[in-house]
This record gives sequence, C-alpha cells and structure tokens, in this order.
Amino acid sequence: MPVREILVLGGGIAGIASALALSKELCPIIPDVKIRVFERHEVPSTSGGAINLTPVAQRHLAHLGILDELDKMGPDGGTEVDAIEIYSIRTGRALGSVNFNDKSGHGYKGYKGRRVTRIALLLAMIATVEKATNVEIEFGKRVVGGEEKGNKVVIHFGDGSTAMGDLALGCDGVHSPTRTRIVDIGRRSEYTGISFLQTTIRTADLKSHIHFHTSALNISRYGSMLTSYCDRDLDELFVAAIIEYDEDLVKQNRLEYGQEWRAQYAIKMAFREEVRDRFSKSAFECIREIVQLPTDWFLYPVYQVPPGGKWYSDRVLLLGDAAHAMPPRDESAAYALDDAILFARTLARYPYRPPGVSFRIYESIRREPVNQAFKASTKRWDKNRDTGALKASLTEWTLPLYLRKTKDARKEAWEFDASEVPIPQISEEQLAFDWASGMDSSEFEREI
Ligand SMILES: Cc1cc2nc3c(=O)[nH]c(=O)nc-3n(C[C@H](O)[C@H](O)[C@H](O)COP(=O)(O)OP(=O)(O)OC[C@H]3O[C@@H](n4cnc5c(N)ncnc54)[C@H](O)[C@@H]3O)c2cc1C
Repeated sequence: MPVREILVLGGGIAGIASALALSKELCPIIPDVKIRVFERHEVPSTSGGAINLTPVAQRHLAHLGILDELDKMGPDGGTEVDAIEIYSIRTGRALGSVNFNDKSGHGYKGYKGRRVTRIALLLAMIATVEKATNVEIEFGKRVVGGEEKGNKVVIHFGDGSTAMGDLALGCDGVHSPTRTRIVDIGRRSEYTGISFLQTTIRTADLKSHIHFHTSALNISRYGSMLTSYCDRDLDELFVAAIIEYDEDLVKQNRLEYGQEWRAQYAIKMAFREEVRDRFSKSAFECIREIVQLPTDWFLYPVYQVPPGGKWYSDRVLLLGDAAHAMPPRDESAAYALDDAILFARTLARYPYRPPGVSFRIYESIRREPVNQAFKASTKRWDKNRDTGALKASLTEWTLPLYLRKTKDARKEAWEFDASEVPIPQISEEQLAFDWASGMDSSEFEREI
C-alpha cells in the first residue's frame, strides 16, 4: 500500500513547504494522496518581524510556486537585497559586505537576496496552498502528543481531537512537541545566550541620513544592529539588535496576553533602555536617532537544537527547526526549504515502502550538510557576545579576511539546488536485507 494520508504538524516555513513539495512530487504517482497541515494558531500569524531570504531560499520558493505569490503582493512582497553591508558602529567604517550578486550582477543562478516580513511570506505560502491539489491547512490544532499504532500514526491535539495518518512530519519549530514527546523524548532546545530585540520603523519618521542601500549589519563590542528595509518601496525599516541577554532576563521580561499594562510598560521601557545603552554612542547618526525613538522593541531569544539527536521514529520524521534549529546566519529558512524538497523527492522515489526507508535515505543525504551548517553558524554567533575593546577591534580588522575566506562556501551554499540532488537508488536485495537484519542507520548509510 502506498502512503495515502500524510500529517504535517506545524504550518510554518518547513510545514507548508513540505506540504507543497509533497503535493508536487506525490500527486502524479498517488493522485488520491491527502496532505493535512495542522497549525496551533487560530489564524495565520507569525512571530518576528522580517526575514532575510538568501539566493538558495528564493530559488526553492520559486520551485514551489511561492515566489510568484510573493511577487504578486507588490510592495509588501519584500525588497531585493544586493548585499548586506557591514559597518563598524564605533568608527562608522565600512568593513565589507555579504554580496548576493555574482560577477555578472545577476545573483546566484538568477537569484539575489530578499528581505520580507514573515507575515507576507506566510500569506504567500498559504495562497500557494490554496492552488495546490490534495493539501489543506487546519488552524487551531495544537499538537500535544501522539503514538504509532501498527502501520499508522495517531496525533493528539489540545482540543481533544486526533488525526490518523500513514506518516507524520514534525515541522513544529525549535521547541517541537513532536520531537520532545514522540521522536526523541525529552530532547529540549537550548538558549544560545543571545537574543534579538526587534522593531519596525517608518522611514519617513527618520530625519537623519541612512548610511546603507537596503540592508546593513552594524557591529560593535556590545552586539550588532541589523538595519534593513523590508518592503519594495523602502517605506519600512526593520531593525534588530542582536545582543547577549541573560536567560533570567528572558524569563523575567516576557510580554504575555492579558498581562497587566503596568508590567507590560515596564518591560517595554527596559527593552528601550537596553538598546539605548548599547548603541547610543554609534558613529552613525541614524542609529543614534533610532535608539532614541519612542518605539516598542520585541524580544526574540534564539534557541538551538544541537546536532546528534534522533530525527525519526517508525512513522514520524522531524524537519526544519524541529530537527536542527541553529543560530540564524540569515539562511536557516533555506535549510527548512531544502529539507522539504529533499524529503518529498525521497518519499516519491519509495512511496510503496514503509516510511522508515525514506526517512533513513533522507537522513543519509541530509545529516552531514546540516552538521556542517550548524558548526559554521555557531562559530560566528559568538561574535555577538559582549567583548573587550581590543577583541572587538581585532574582529573588525579580520572581518574582510573572513569574508574573503568564506566566499566560496557561500557561493556553494547559494547555488545548491535540492531539486537536483541525486536520491540514492536502493536495490530490492539491500532493502530486504536491511529490513530483515534491522541494520542501524550508520551501517545503512555506508551501504548506500
Ligand atoms: C530571531 C530570529 C531571526 C531569524 N532570522 C532569520 C533570517 O533572517 N533568515 C533566515 O533564513 N532564517 C532566520 N531565522 C531562522 C528561521 O526563522 C527558522 O529557521 C525557520 O523559521 C524555521 O522554519 P520552521 O518551519 O522549521 O519553524 P517555524 O518557522 O518556527 O514554524 C513552526 C510552526 O509550527 C507551529 N507550531 C509550534 N508548536 C506547535 C504545536 N504544538 N502544534 C501545532 N503547530 C505548532 C508554529 O506556530 C509555527 O507556525 C531566524 C530565527 C530567529 C529566532
């Protein structure tokens, strides 16, 4: 029997991209396949302001039909980013840039960067689902647990309902209950010690000169400040202070629905002061102005799921941040999209096999690149921690060298195409042997 009913748990980037990729790959083989996405929010909503999409993320969104929907949104569909310029906050010196243009100025394999609000991206994804066959999204469905029963998986939701499928994909983000309650019980996310304090400002409200074209990372010994337009007409400026922030403060300064206004006010004032203390001595006039504005800053603590955990059980696979959340380097969303496309292509190759076959083959092509990406993102992440003046100067001096040294790796990452990666071909003998012998995943990887 082929897979007929797939449950996707979480309607974020990994979840909706997986549903679309599965619809694209499986419908031609199994026309009556049903893909159901379950999202905990009652209505489409996101947390966080704007997201940077790298060339590879844009190419994969185009592959799934999402980029067309984003483009149809006009100014709200985001702004094209040629480069993220990097500056020293202390001296105002330009230190280099992460360039999304190739030598010909056309972007990598035709795509540059894009900064877009998270809600616009989600709405474009939902619009794409509406056109897809065999996919539906159910809102207000919070996963609380589940179990595997024979050749089915049953998922439990907070409202007391259940859903049954042939397999389930845990796409429920860094704190994934699918991971902690079903696949790798008790494996929790860890706080990285660094948080984003974010806000959005109308460009018209700023009087001072803006020193960058579309996007800039302004670095200092007290953290970095990301400043980027996030709409095509450059009316909105997304600002994120990326700072070392104590875990106790994260717990203490949590804004919650129904909280007394006095408590909310005190938290908002504490955030304003935090940003002001760190960046008010900037060499850039516009940063000095931004930190004095009476704007509300919102806290996004950054958590990670370190490598080495389980990615799947018999009928449940983790994708995106649920499997491998890492400190963002402006490209974690791309990993969620890669996961979605690669897994859908693997399942479409083996739709008549138990899902465990596709899970293992998928892991065999995915685990190592993800481990490498985790290592690379963790290395740079620590540069956001508070540091001494000497070390900060050293970072500024060595940054151009770092950018030169890592240029080829960026090019390779941005030219990656999940729709072209070969899916390993497994012979009948190998499959029969593997299933009979209960070979573990590392042996299996060696075999293929
Ligand atoms: C502060 C910050 C800034 C970042 N900036 C960038 C950037 O600029 N560029 C970039 O590429 N990446 C960035 N990232 C990383 C990027 O946001 C993630 O890698 C990406 O969102 C992962 O997608 P996902 O679908 O796996 O998880 P998510 O986007 O977290 O989606 C998970 C979904 O599951 C739902 N869910 C959660 N629990 C349940 C439940 N119990 N039941 C049902 N549904 C549930 C959630 O509501 C959500 O819709 C950033 C991350 C952080 C924290």
